[in-house]
Amino acid sequence: MSVSKGPDRVLVTGGAGFIGSAVCRALVRQGQHVFNIDALTYASNLASLSETEGRDNYRFMHGDIRDPALLEAAFAHFAPNRVVHLAAETHVDRSIASATEFVQTNVVGTQVLLDAALRYWEALKGEVRHSFRFLHVSTDEVFGSLGEDGAFDESSPYDPRSPYAASKAASDHLVNAWGHTYGLPVLRSNASNNYGPFQFPEKFIPLMIVNALVGKPLPLYGDGANVRDWLYVDDHVEGLLRILRDGRVGESYVLGGSAQMRNVDVAHRILDLVAQIAPGSTMPEIQFVADRAGHDRRYAVDCQKIGAELNWRPKQSFETGLERTVGWFFKRQDWWRPILDGRYGGERLGLRDAL
Ligand code: NAD
Repeated sequence: MSVSKGPDRVLVTGGAGFIGSAVCRALVRQGQHVFNIDALTYASNLASLSETEGRDNYRFMHGDIRDPALLEAAFAHFAPNRVVHLAAETHVDRSIASATEFVQTNVVGTQVLLDAALRYWEALKGEVRHSFRFLHVSTDEVFGSLGEDGAFDESSPYDPRSPYAASKAASDHLVNAWGHTYGLPVLRSNASNNYGPFQFPEKFIPLMIVNALVGKPLPLYGDGANVRDWLYVDDHVEGLLRILRDGRVGESYVLGGSAQMRNVDVAHRILDLVAQIAPGSTMPEIQFVADRAGHDRRYAVDCQKIGAELNWRPKQSFETGLERTVGWFFKRQDWWRPILDGRYGGERLGLRDAL
């Protein structure tokens, strides 16, 4: 275990997004110092960070990770001993409609950030230099799609199949290269699909929940039999913080929820939970719609390594995590209704003929 002298100083990128805001909230609650850099794209929401606002150990900077001068100033000013890199374009459907922003932020942005971190780290001395860590937060989608059996682990070959997954695979390779070539103390995580409070309602689970709550049909791609290994966001964050603290430099860790579910079963379960929480409301139908282009069939993750090395396992079952999530979306309509009225009204994204 690393010896820590006082609170960590953690530079977080993408901390106004779904997982990043959960990382910031968790670190601030622990008493660590957080400096959050976020470009505030459509997917961000500063309302997800209201609990950290005004806290002495939290700072926000509106900025783009593609801006080297901004990053240099941020590193110099904040003097972090940890970086958690989450900033990214993240919605597969949007990457199908246009890959430009995905390559720009996920690939170019990661390279610019790595260079800024490297210049900063190279100027550090002694124990501060020795204990510095750069954690890159990535996805299991870089490994492609599984058949009926098996699961991804850290030795799975890269086989990204969507523009999003390809851009994240490229960023993983850049991070490895900065570790091998320059010695930057990097760590990597590849997690399965997350769900939970504060997730932008273009993603599958929150879209199903808000549609059920407003009485709109639940659109299911293809035959609805695609399988994801659902990971509750707070479990993911707990895993990331363990990797950041105790992970072995240069290693990658895969994380999953041990909760493989077909999309159609998830949608039915959401309808049941919404019917329980809002009795008397008329439940909408499930509607099968044209499939996503190149839709990966199944993801599953074997988390033995992080279990054995860092004693991490998900605390939430899919059942308990989904109940919490549906309950949160029911209570926090103040958070998502303004999104539906403004930035994203639930329309279909990423259709090939829209290209
Ligand atoms: P998100 O889309 O909710 O948030 C991304 C955040 O990054 C937003 O706040 C956005 O404003 C910010 N951002 C985008 N471009 C930026 C730029 N150029 N400069 C600075 N900030 C920028 O994403 P998320 O679901 O919270 O995912 C966070 C990270 O975790 C991503 O790297 C993603 O690939 C990875 N990941 C996500 C999942 C998942 O299921 N959501 C699973 C595994 C890994």
